[in-house]
Amino acid sequence: MAEDVEIDGSRGEGGGQILRTSLALSIITQRPLRMTRIRAGRARPGLQRQHLACVEAAARLCSAQTHGAELGSQTLEFVPSIGYADHVTIDIGSAGSTTLVVQTILVPAIAASVPLRATIIGGTHNPLAPPFEFLERVFVPQLRAMGADVTLTLVKHGVMPKGGGEVQLETAGKTQLRRLELTKAGEIGSRRATVILARIPTHVADRELAVVRERLGKVESEIRDLRGGPANVLMVEIDRGTARELVTEHGEKGTRAELVATRACDDIERYLASGAPVGEHLADQLLLPMAVAGAGRFRTLAPLSLHATTNIATIGAFLDVPIRVEPAATTVDVIVGQG
Ligand code: ATP
Repeated sequence: MAEDVEIDGSRGEGGGQILRTSLALSIITQRPLRMTRIRAGRARPGLQRQHLACVEAAARLCSAQTHGAELGSQTLEFVPSIGYADHVTIDIGSAGSTTLVVQTILVPAIAASVPLRATIIGGTHNPLAPPFEFLERVFVPQLRAMGADVTLTLVKHGVMPKGGGEVQLETAGKTQLRRLELTKAGEIGSRRATVILARIPTHVADRELAVVRERLGKVESEIRDLRGGPANVLMVEIDRGTARELVTEHGEKGTRAELVATRACDDIERYLASGAPVGEHLADQLLLPMAVAGAGRFRTLAPLSLHATTNIATIGAFLDVPIRVEPAATTVDVIVGQG
């Protein structure tokens, strides 16, 4: 068995992402993981239900043995094996994020070259996590460009507080991830805005879309009226040929619809003004597949987020693939391996 890796979960960003990246890399490298001080600085430290769902999904994917996988636990031992499952079903049992479970198992399933079908039940559009469309329309297309065969399906929406949504993930076997270079943003192509409403009046969506049109010009728009909630989610997407960006704002009681849309448009304009193809969240998420491919480079907005720098440090604990960061005025180039 390969050498254990010890990770202090309180370092850097100190949140759930260190856990997810560590689980993914433990499976990929087949190195046992010993994690301490998991989410130590958070208001509710240790493994919460959402994080346990990620541990459970990772363990089922590779028939791992675990110790400490309990609610509130700040330590975890995870011993992976090559006994890969072809089906995994995880019901988070709350509105916990399904997409963060996908983030945990997707790259390991691709790296293992095993066909996987996973069903994940929980929230599909949560604050502080990628909405389903971010994975499907921003992240997964880059994995496909690297040679992966991945299909993500939104079977049912799930919003706070009840969740109950369903996401399906399918990967084909036999993949060797390839180098990807994403340094140039193409022409601005389509612009889309999607508003999710659950027990919120339609005029909220109309007012949000009016602000988006005033700021960004012509946009394709869609309003989805769901059960559950109350919830309001605005997603604004820009296609730049080589890459897409999708920003998300969640409406809250007491925050005017116009302000929700203004925040989303401010983020999109900051992205466009930088001239970089890779947005803030795609940057931290691309690091893992690029490191597994062993080479790649991308340009993103400066400064690099704490999520991204923490991911670089976590990857460095498992893989012997150097990652260099070269800052310029408004952008940063990230060079993985030989670039
Ligand atoms: P904790 O509760 O410990 O803070 P967590 O497990 O909820 O952590 P983070 O560690 O903060 O989550 O990681 C969140 C992940 O979700 C990151 O990969 C981040 O890029 C991604 N993410 C957050 N918001 C968005 C968004 N609006 N669009 C796309 N990705 C997002």
